[in-house]
Amino acid sequence: MRSKTINAQALAYEWSLSAPIADALPVDLGGGSVLPALGLDCPNCNRPMESSHIRGNVVLIEPGVCRIEGVGACGICEMLTVFSFRCTGDRGSVIVEWHEPSGRRLVHIRPTLWLRCLRHLKKRIGLYRIGGKKKPYSR
Ligand SMILES: [Zn+2]
Repeated sequence: MRSKTINAQALAYEWSLSAPIADALPVDLGGGSVLPALGLDCPNCNRPMESSHIRGNVVLIEPGVCRIEGVGACGICEMLTVFSFRCTGDRGSVIVEWHEPSGRRLVHIRPTLWLRCLRHLKKRIGLYRIGGKKKPYSR
């Protein structure tokens, strides 16, 4: 996890340079386990973030396991959310794990349930208000 003292402007800058996670999807974790999409709701206002505003990296850690981490920006309330998910292929489905202040969360997602996967980030992992201009992160 990132430090809580991270500078919000630096985070916004990092976000502006990052590619959408959607560009790196789908991720094939082997054995028929494929992660096709990632959707996040803003932990601050509960509205879905635009796909192009969910940015960062998909890193393969080992065969069948990847980490998806980055920063999502909400176009409505202008909050940044730091996220990090560990995804493990499991016989055609995918187990997604992440940390919340209350502890570790785990969700098991089966291929038939994919619509917009992973709309489960309800509590803040790391939430930062963007300072400065009205919409400093718009393209
Ligand atoms: Zn929001």
